Amino acid sequence: MTIHVIGAGVAGLAAALALARAGQRVALHEATPAPGGRARALPDGTDNGTHALLGANRAALRFLTAIGARDAWVEPEPLGLPVLDLEEGTARRVALSPLGWGDAARRPDGLSLGGLFALLRLAIPGPDRSVAAAFAAHPRLLRALVEPLTVAALNTPVEEASARLLGAVLRRLGGKGAARLLVARQGLGPDLVAPALATLGCHGASLRAGARLRALVQAEGRVTALDFGDTIIALLPGDAVVLAVPPWEAARLLPGLPVPQRHAPILNVHFNRVEEGPVRFLGLLGGLSQWVLVRPTGVSVTVSAADAAVGLTDAEAAARIWPEVRQAALRFRLPGAWPEAPSPARAVRERRATPRHGLNPPPAPPRRPLANLVLAGDWTLAALPATIEAAVRSGEAAAAVLGRALRQRVVA
Ligand SMILES: Cc1cc2nc3c(=O)[nH]c(=O)nc-3n(C[C@H](O)[C@H](O)[C@H](O)COP(=O)(O)OP(=O)(O)OC[C@H]3O[C@@H](n4cnc5c(N)ncnc54)[C@H](O)[C@@H]3O)c2cc1C
Repeated sequence: MTIHVIGAGVAGLAAALALARAGQRVALHEATPAPGGRARALPDGTDNGTHALLGANRAALRFLTAIGARDAWVEPEPLGLPVLDLEEGTARRVALSPLGWGDAARRPDGLSLGGLFALLRLAIPGPDRSVAAAFAAHPRLLRALVEPLTVAALNTPVEEASARLLGAVLRRLGGKGAARLLVARQGLGPDLVAPALATLGCHGASLRAGARLRALVQAEGRVTALDFGDTIIALLPGDAVVLAVPPWEAARLLPGLPVPQRHAPILNVHFNRVEEGPVRFLGLLGGLSQWVLVRPTGVSVTVSAADAAVGLTDAEAAARIWPEVRQAALRFRLPGAWPEAPSPARAVRERRATPRHGLNPPPAPPRRPLANLVLAGDWTLAALPATIEAAVRSGEAAAAVLGRALRQRVVA
């Protein structure tokens, strides 16, 4: 009996690990030459884009522990996030958790009693509205805290983003340690994908890279074969499938499945600056750059909800972003040289980085649309934005549903 996991992104890796640890024989099939999906290392080792986790992302952190990579994710700014406002010229450290706002020095700009109340109101169920509408009366708080959080967590502009979904994110930041921000010390390759594959290998799971599933052959509500073009794998009784592909691929393979149709881009610009020093993470307001990750191997800048920025050429993006980064680095006294001339840079554009998290999202798809097929993927959970946390949870949920179905079959 084999469980075929289609797609070796985080959701597929998490599903494969849960199944392999439960003693199932697992075969992973990945379309591209390298696993990781939207959280992957490029051929030169650079991350496709900076990925941050929060202490609240318990499933993601459990997954890192299970693959022996938890210690590779470090908290670069334990004293609060250094944020430079490029328009106003102010610099401060901001606590991401309301628990840190007792200290006036770490409060976000514009936090008033009314603003706090508007944040609390997000937790109260009611009709959904855009984040911009929910904070229309608190423009400074919107600009200094709510908009950066929305764009980072929902990858959707505030005018369109769901206040209800943002509320679900903020509610999870209240607990102790929940707002700790973590990044991979070296990168997604060594600190996520490689350890996941090594752990899966130890559990006997196999991986076929460069294997794109062309079609699911079906009969009587079941998958009977997997068509990879050059290879067709016939399923035996008891075999099952975890389909852990992005929404557009899931809809192609299973026509009629409800999937998110609209996606938002993320632009990352990677500067080739090699300089010893600690890992640092800075926030910027009022410019093009939003987050700056400084590692000894390079400086990576993130622009989320990047509808306007994604069309810039590499040279245009670097020319606009480097002076912003340099200003923040000098202001927060980051070590090393920060010359005026930008280091060589490359831009990575993920045009369908995540679904857009607006009002009236499509209904969540059924977890098990066919008798022997379950779905996984960041987009399959309605309660969370599309993130690593959602991907891991979806993979584990798929494995649990399949486990139950297989047990029932054995009992029957
Ligand atoms: C630039 C960027 C920055 C991000 N930043 C963050 C962040 O800071 N924090 C965070 O938590 N999340 C972040 N995310 C979101 C996070 O990367 C995703 O939510 C997560 O990686 C999705 O995993 P997944 O397995 O659901 O989907 P995917 O990663 O899309 O995996 C699907 C896999 O299926 C494969 N596949 C597709 N079709 C087929 C087929 N027919 N046959 C076989 N294989 C197939 C794909 O190649 C891919 O490997 C970011 C995303 C991007 C793009």
